Amino acid sequence: MTSKRDHWSYSSINQYLRCPLQYYFERVLKLPRKSIPSAMVMGSAIHAGLAEFHRALQHGDEPSNDHIREIVVGSWKNSCNEKVVDFKDGNTQEELIKQSIELVELYTGSERPTNIRAVELPFWVPIITSSGEVLEKPLLAVADLIVERESGLTVREFKSSGRAYSDFEVSSSLQATCYVHATWEKLSQWSQVEFTVLVKTKTPKIQNIPTTRTSAEVGRMGDLFQQVASSIELGIFYPIENVMNCSGCPYRAECKHWVGSKPNASTNPIRKPINGVHACLPN
Ligand code: SF4
Repeated sequence: MTSKRDHWSYSSINQYLRCPLQYYFERVLKLPRKSIPSAMVMGSAIHAGLAEFHRALQHGDEPSNDHIREIVVGSWKNSCNEKVVDFKDGNTQEELIKQSIELVELYTGSERPTNIRAVELPFWVPIITSSGEVLEKPLLAVADLIVERESGLTVREFKSSGRAYSDFEVSSSLQATCYVHATWEKLSQWSQVEFTVLVKTKTPKIQNIPTTRTSAEVGRMGDLFQQVASSIELGIFYPIENVMNCSGCPYRAECKHWVGSKPNASTNPIRKPINGVHACLPN
């Protein structure tokens, strides 16, 4: 169980880097999401199933396929009961539950990780810039799976995706850098990271892509967090409109009302509501 203490996460900085205005709506104004994309629900269900599988292996138990299936289905049902799920491309809940189970079973049928150190382990660590400055807010990183290999500690990050990942995506991933930093701070071990991508193509497949980071890259990560934190403090929020960002964005209606304002640390960009929606208005 993680605390609500103010912190950075990979998903929060990534949201700012992808679209600062979406970050503003969700994390500054705290506007509730009207819906969540079915891909996000599927990702959570797959994660829940894989965590159950890994916990059984960690405790030396034989994982039960039926039980893992129940976990996946239960996760889907909970999400659909609690939230409005945005289904794309004519997909139905039943089809996506079936696909989630297939992907989980493709993995559980082909891999049995050994020497498991932790499953879904949260790390609270300070964020440190390349010059050694410690940022005010810590980083919370939750590692899906940590295994001990001959080569050392490996953090495995599980993704479900409609397409295969490229080597560049993994080698430049800020999330991997967060894990390397977190394991160094908490466990005093320089880990490597492996992305395991469950690819939801017609014939599903699994990709394992390892990656490493240098201490310079970890320092650069701290610098990036610092710059983003400063930008947020200055009230720098603007839209980045593209298909990838906007097609599943729950704040499209609010975004239409947005107009820019001059960044100023002493003023908040929330000036007044338009049609009940707060937007950034010019001075
Ligand atoms: S609709 Fe697009 S540009 Fe607007 S907030 Fe959402 S992601 Fe950003």
